[in-house]
Amino acid sequence: MKGRIVIKLHMGETGSLKTRIQPEEVKVIVDKIRASGGEPFLFDTTTLYRRERYTKQKYLKFAKENGFADFEVVIGNDDDVKHVNGYGILNELLNADAMVVLSHAKGHVFTQYAGAIKNLGMGCVNKDGKRKIHMVSKPKWDKSKCTQCGACIKACEDGFVQLDGGEITIDLRDCSGCGACVNACPTGAMWREQGSVEASFEKFNEAAKAVLDEFRNAGKPVFYINVLKNITRYCDCAVDVGKIVCPDIGYLTGDSALKIDQESIKLIKEKSPNALDWKTIGLFMEIAEKYF
Ligand code: SF4
Ligand code: SF4
Repeated sequence: MKGRIVIKLHMGETGSLKTRIQPEEVKVIVDKIRASGGEPFLFDTTTLYRRERYTKQKYLKFAKENGFADFEVVIGNDDDVKHVNGYGILNELLNADAMVVLSHAKGHVFTQYAGAIKNLGMGCVNKDGKRKIHMVSKPKWDKSKCTQCGACIKACEDGFVQLDGGEITIDLRDCSGCGACVNACPTGAMWREQGSVEASFEKFNEAAKAVLDEFRNAGKPVFYINVLKNITRYCDCAVDVGKIVCPDIGYLTGDSALKIDQESIKLIKEKSPNALDWKTIGLFMEIAEKYF
């Protein structure tokens, strides 16, 4: 890999500092690229939810203070995008000469598993693109079934669900449609439209393919590394990433997002059969097969 090499990486959050991909591991890859004559830089995009990676400035500060001070870190400028199939892909990423998709393989509150495909799709598009992926699976509220138990309010880590004068209100602007509030509701008062999960999974894959096609069409190589260590129930974005659900497996490398995720899922399942929700993961991967 020669020229500017983008390493697409989720740098973690306060809740995942111990379980995310560690800066020492990233350094090994950065040093290898440098040794082969490439110029590596770490890249990520800002989040929809308003925490430490919400803006470019906040993310850069977080990265600097949490292990990545000695790396070149670029956080995408949401206004500087190329629109491909309806998704705004960050130009700073597309301008690179090659990409290493460095992904932590672990659980996820919505897709149940997150690895290379999620890193590519959700992780490489701007906030509008993220909204597009999420908007189809946003929750709805049925007042007639609500007992006002408050479980949904507790379930939403970002405070998008509130109880206001006896009414449950959902701030849907930046809701990720993760379904945690729906799953927590004991009465079915919080619900999602049938088929909305599948529709959102389609969009995850559609966005990932749009990113990949841009690299492919430009003849730029893409290489994948999945880290199967500290495999937590929830993803590195979660306030509480939950328990480690599978013993460490190691690292996988490859040249296909689909194959590396398929293999990661297979290995986790073999090692820890009750670790994750395989039915939902199967649905996501079945959809992924149509795209890759
Ligand atoms: S789906 Fe529910 S829990 Fe998830 S972000 Fe939206 S409001 Fe919060
Ligand atoms: S969890 Fe369900 S029943 Fe409880 S307050 Fe929320 S919507 Fe109402």
